[in-house]
Amino acid sequence: MAFAIPLVEFSRLAPQLREAAGEATGEVAFTRESSLAVAGVRVEAELVLTCQRCMERLPWMLRSEGRAALVATAAEADRASDELETVFAEDHRISLRELVEEELLLALPLVPRHESEHDCAGPATDAQEAVQPAGDAPEETHRPFGQLAQLLKRQ
Ligand SMILES: [Zn+2]
Repeated sequence: MAFAIPLVEFSRLAPQLREAAGEATGEVAFTRESSLAVAGVRVEAELVLTCQRCMERLPWMLRSEGRAALVATAAEADRASDELETVFAEDHRISLRELVEEELLLALPLVPRHESEHDCAGPATDAQEAVQPAGDAPEETHRPFGQLAQLLKRQ
């Protein structure tokens, strides 16, 4: 079953987005495993997050695939195999939107950031460095290379 759901309709996801334009698209398929209903969800969405390093706009291509058991009780959740996510579904019914939103939230990065500091712009980078504990951190980073050089000379 294919779907296309506007991002603004995800009430829990939308507040975490910088821009809730666009939609999530993908497919859902239901199967039954050990007498539990299992939903297989494949979802794609072009999100716009906020980089936690520079606080600027961060386009994020989210692609995720997961399988979730629809459970109505804690006992059922225990029965679900460990490789399955579990989604609470009263009377074993869940809306497609809720199901897709669960998958999106699971796939969302905990601390979204540009891949490298060089992709970040603005003075926030300096602020980030100031937060790190002062001390001998830079020395520690260089020491392994110094030791390595000694080893090489000995051989
Ligand atoms: Zn950034």
